[in-house]
Amino acid sequence: MSHTLLAIDQGTTSSRAILFSTDGQIIGIRQKELTLHYPQNGWVEQEAHDIWQDSLWAARSVISDHPEAARTLAAIGITNQRETTLLWNRHTGEPIYNAIVWQDRRTASQCDTLKQQGHETAITAKTGLLLDPYFSATKISWILDHVSGARAAAERGDLAFGTVDCFLLWHLTAGKVHATDATNASRTMLFNIKTQSWDDELLALFNVPRSLLPTVHDNVHDFGHTEAGLLGKSYTIGGMAGDQQAALIGQACFEPGMVKSTYGTGCFALMNIGSEYRLSQHRLLTTQAYRLQGQSRYAIEGSIFVAGAAIQWLRDGLHIITTAAQSEELAQEVNDTNGVYLVPAFTGLGAPYWNPRSRGAILGLTRESTAAHITRAALEAQAYQTRDLMDAMTADTGTHPAVIRADGGLVHNQFVCQFIADILDTPLDIPHVTETTAWGAACLAGLQSGVYQGLDDITAHWQQAKRYTPALAEAKREQLYQGWQAAIRSVMAAA
Ligand code: ADP
Repeated sequence: MSHTLLAIDQGTTSSRAILFSTDGQIIGIRQKELTLHYPQNGWVEQEAHDIWQDSLWAARSVISDHPEAARTLAAIGITNQRETTLLWNRHTGEPIYNAIVWQDRRTASQCDTLKQQGHETAITAKTGLLLDPYFSATKISWILDHVSGARAAAERGDLAFGTVDCFLLWHLTAGKVHATDATNASRTMLFNIKTQSWDDELLALFNVPRSLLPTVHDNVHDFGHTEAGLLGKSYTIGGMAGDQQAALIGQACFEPGMVKSTYGTGCFALMNIGSEYRLSQHRLLTTQAYRLQGQSRYAIEGSIFVAGAAIQWLRDGLHIITTAAQSEELAQEVNDTNGVYLVPAFTGLGAPYWNPRSRGAILGLTRESTAAHITRAALEAQAYQTRDLMDAMTADTGTHPAVIRADGGLVHNQFVCQFIADILDTPLDIPHVTETTAWGAACLAGLQSGVYQGLDDITAHWQQAKRYTPALAEAKREQLYQGWQAAIRSVMAAA
């Protein structure tokens, strides 16, 4: 009997469910766009209700679209936008505030204060993270301090905290299971990734009661069973991982030195560094790559907050394109940007700069500048941002990756892919399964249900669909990149 696997992929811009065959073919997909709310400058929120209902709708729909394939569904995997923070009432399931999205910067001054007090080094030593509003800890304490009665309710044990994986698991099991996985826990800034446990000193520092926290499991685990009424019958949730770690798994980057880079709303490059916990010396993060059978693998991560979101802004903010795909055609109406650089620091700069107060800029405008130049500059920025990360990663690990495995919505744009290969002077491989994040979650579920025996089975399914080979002369490459570095300096100086 050939099995199928279901991935629930709750991302920043959409909630989707994908039914896979065990060799990675997509049998069915359902997806719903998710609205982002910007209540104040630097604030980013989503409706908790939508996150759950849209994910449920997507899973239900794809199952009912393919009843035959669903009959052999072995297990469900969940993957999710990371760090996004939810608090809800344990008794009613009611969220007490909107989801505070990872991009949200409202806790920048709390982070500044903690930095000034000298806490960053100790936090980094335990979590691998840098003190930034990006992570969940300050988002949790903000909710506890700003929602009336929240702190008292938390002290009484009436509230639960979860990242999106945990929130979905809680709802899928009708409130029976409050658990997360090691990769999602590693992004909260409350989890010690050396000892693999919630850390009392960090909990005290961020003023977060332990009673809020979920249990942390391996990425492959019998997390729980869906409430029978929700999806037609009860299925096992056999795997969970944060989206970037799921993509690392879907890209089969299991050997130290292997790198994947995902271009969705943001851009996240992860290099597998093996089983030894090591800190970055160049302002990148160390994070949990995955944990299987109690064994941790770590990764060095470069996180950029705005990648595809810049293209959405061209569409929804500037209205110079009507679809993201149109950006490719428009950018190619011109041969270059004519000196225009677009720094998409809409919500501050992430790695390796970590400047939450920076804001975006378009530099080098002249009377000749057109929508095509600006669009091209927005696309080229993806390559420059990746180069910033890769240079830091190479300096950290002493190895420049031989090839980068890329995925995410932006890899449909061939101009961007070629320009990344050019600016990095490194080949870019696009896999057959472009829904790598969802596929990674499906693989975890497959490991749990015995469909796969081990990671080698996942490696065997990875296939290159296309390779972009660098083709830009060194002098040109470096001249372009120096222009970007100058643009970054201007943006930082203005912050
Ligand atoms: P996420 O998982 O973060 O929600 P996706 O991986 O689905 O994101 O990618 C969606 C992003 O990719 C959007 O921000 C969109 O603007 C961008 N995108 C999709 N297709 C293209 C394209 N052909 N050219 C440029 N950008 C694109």
